[in-house]
Amino acid sequence: MKYNYPELDALDWSSIKPHVDALLAEELTHGNIRAWLQRWSDLESVLDEKVSWIHRAITENTADEKANERFKKLVQDVYPQWQVVEQKLKAKWMLVEDYEPDEETAQVYRRFKAEMDLFTEENIPIQTELQLRRKRYEEIIGGLSIEWKDESLTIPQAEALLGNRDRAVRKQVWRKIMDAHLAHRDELNELFMDLLAKRRQIAKNAGFPDYRSYAWISRGRFDYTPEDCIIFHDAIEQKVAPLTSEMHRYLAGEIGVDRLRPWETSIGSPWLPTVDPYEEPLQPFRDVVELEEAGQRVFTQVHPDFGGYFQSMRDGFLDLASRPNKAPGGYMNSFPISGRAYIFMNAVGSHRNFRTLMHEGGHAFHFFEAFQHQSLIWNYHSPMEFSEVASMSMEQLSMPYWRKEAGGVYDESDYRRAVREQLIGTITFLPYMAVVDKFQHWLYTKAPEDVSPADLDAKWAELWDRFLPGIDYSGLDAEKATGWHRKAHIFGVPFYYIEYGLAQIGALQVWRNALDDQEQAVADYRRALAAGYTKPLPELFQLANARFAFDPETVGELMDLIRVEMEKYF
Ligand SMILES: [Zn+2]
Repeated sequence: MKYNYPELDALDWSSIKPHVDALLAEELTHGNIRAWLQRWSDLESVLDEKVSWIHRAITENTADEKANERFKKLVQDVYPQWQVVEQKLKAKWMLVEDYEPDEETAQVYRRFKAEMDLFTEENIPIQTELQLRRKRYEEIIGGLSIEWKDESLTIPQAEALLGNRDRAVRKQVWRKIMDAHLAHRDELNELFMDLLAKRRQIAKNAGFPDYRSYAWISRGRFDYTPEDCIIFHDAIEQKVAPLTSEMHRYLAGEIGVDRLRPWETSIGSPWLPTVDPYEEPLQPFRDVVELEEAGQRVFTQVHPDFGGYFQSMRDGFLDLASRPNKAPGGYMNSFPISGRAYIFMNAVGSHRNFRTLMHEGGHAFHFFEAFQHQSLIWNYHSPMEFSEVASMSMEQLSMPYWRKEAGGVYDESDYRRAVREQLIGTITFLPYMAVVDKFQHWLYTKAPEDVSPADLDAKWAELWDRFLPGIDYSGLDAEKATGWHRKAHIFGVPFYYIEYGLAQIGALQVWRNALDDQEQAVADYRRALAAGYTKPLPELFQLANARFAFDPETVGELMDLIRVEMEKYF
């Protein structure tokens, strides 16, 4: 039974406070604890719903002064107080004697307990410092520009020129982009060494032998170990890297060069080629009306209920068109009081936009399914390792319906092209992901106390050569070795990245199941979505009829499957 807070204004702390005080004052017994959790959850839902509306407003119109004011009020007045209260509520729950969480509360209890255990007063100022230093990284990278034909271009603007069909242009632009980064090489090195020292200190203060073991708990990784990740890296090196090299050779041939050089690849996604072998880009839709209609047809075919969810979103919960003053990117957001899901993106007619709609659709349906089956807010969203299975699987599950004759948007030849792109993107990402992750495992556990930026460069270059030999960096040692400077996650959110690789392995298994029996695969997938975050990762994957896997056998089987499928589309 959900509790209502009809009179509550989430932006006014004085209206929230009495409810918080009541929660804190209540004497907890085994008998009343579930009802107490529901009231806490519902109070948090009121705040969360408000946050979603405000976030929506400021991304839909970054110049919306009123929304920005509300956001500031939230961050300055409400959040800090809410955080203190949350700590107290968690502590209160953890202190209940002889408490055994049940199936519904086991995951959230485990999470909260770990968070409490990590907490040490000493680390608060260091965490604040880290936040500021992280911002410095964004400032440096965000401030880079190049001069091109008497114009100053930001890096994303310059990157668009890497798709130019003239190799000389690409090379020149790439050179300038690298020089812009290398001009800050010392500063970035110094910044990172400082981050590293602070992270080591944080781990020490919290009583951990190294930062990796601290990060493991703080990222909520209860269901897999660092050793599992090492096995996964090896599996990718053995089973995926060779296929990735083949793909890089194939793509080089497609664009008419002997082998891919870095100026044929993206700066932000250096595993992906920038040059389209075709003169004309794929154009799945002309405007967002067409995109919505296509989404409706495709999702309905994956499952009528998904079509129903999407239909409900078309009633004011989609903002798909690109326009001035809109924030960049795309995301899905949920509203835990009204039970609505919302998709934001900047569609301009590209295949990438179409794929984004499929992806975010998967996130939205995950919320709808979990919301119907769960009643505590902490159970609505599963961990990243699985929520990305929900979204990536929807890309794959929807694939059969991308064809015009199946309700989609592409004629036969464009359809084949889109599928090829999908499969190539999947394969080539994994080795890069492994480099980013393996680099950090080494850095936080194996690197000596007095490790130097030169050591980091050497390690990155060594891993790059092992996992991504298909892109020819010869004669470009400094550019290759400083690749880690261009990966924001390494500076900002250490260890956060492998989630996408693990989810990809899950999504590929869902796709494998669907190739065999689409209807059954969708049914299993829905069952897993409905579980929200009430099960550990291996069980969530299991519900989707997939294994939460790291091993070379599973990875190898999926790569074999991709090879077979590719035969049909290449
Ligand atoms: Zn996603």
